[in-house]
Amino acid sequence: MQDLTTEISGMLLEQNASLVGVADLGDDNLSPVSTLPKAVIFGIALNPEIVASLRDSPSAAYVGEYTGVNGLLASLGARVAAALEDAGYRSFCVAPTTGDFDKETLSAVFPHKTAATRAGLGWVGKCALLVTREYGSAIRFATVLTDAPLIPGTPVTRSFCGECTECRTVCPADAPSGREWYPGLARDDFWDARACYAEAQRVADAMGFAHPVCGRCIAACPWTQRYLQRAGKY
Ligand code: SF4
Ligand code: SF4
Repeated sequence: MQDLTTEISGMLLEQNASLVGVADLGDDNLSPVSTLPKAVIFGIALNPEIVASLRDSPSAAYVGEYTGVNGLLASLGARVAAALEDAGYRSFCVAPTTGDFDKETLSAVFPHKTAATRAGLGWVGKCALLVTREYGSAIRFATVLTDAPLIPGTPVTRSFCGECTECRTVCPADAPSGREWYPGLARDDFWDARACYAEAQRVADAMGFAHPVCGRCIAACPWTQRYLQRAGKY
């Protein structure tokens, strides 16, 4: 099934996806739809100039940027689903994460991070965001689940944060504990979702945004900064 894997990946990259991968979620029952064990995971990097501005403060420009990128990801997801269905397979689009997550658990139905780490695109940082070598955490993802026998990437099985604590230092809510992620470690065992949410809601209330927003840890991450440097924005 190399041909279909290459076709889907090529189509996404042609349509300006920044990173594309395939994850096998079946072995560990990680798919939210058990009959769709493979995942096409793809991301679009955020505008580096807007990400650089997060060092000072969240802004309407940042809200506009991630909302726009979410729209592009949703439309790419529909294209992937159509291509898979044209090839005779089933699919289910998991939309980009928005402010409409479960307010009790502060969790999305399916974290794109699960597919991204399994596809080999990056690791989960101490700030609980997916960190990539190419764009740091300045990238948003969507996922399409499928039963197509696509060729998966090699999972990332460890963190590459090392001794870095930049996201912890910059976080006004003290949400990252400083502990490094590894596959299977529960989010709540290394990062305080409630503290992050409360800070992001405080910012939204103060600045008049409809959804919680922060993102300081995105700009602070050295891996993001390398992306900004390459783009001449740091
Ligand atoms: S988004 Fe803001 S509050 Fe949440 S972990 Fe990052 S810096 Fe802390
Ligand atoms: S700022 Fe440092 S510790 Fe935090 S996610 Fe990035 S590399 Fe990891």
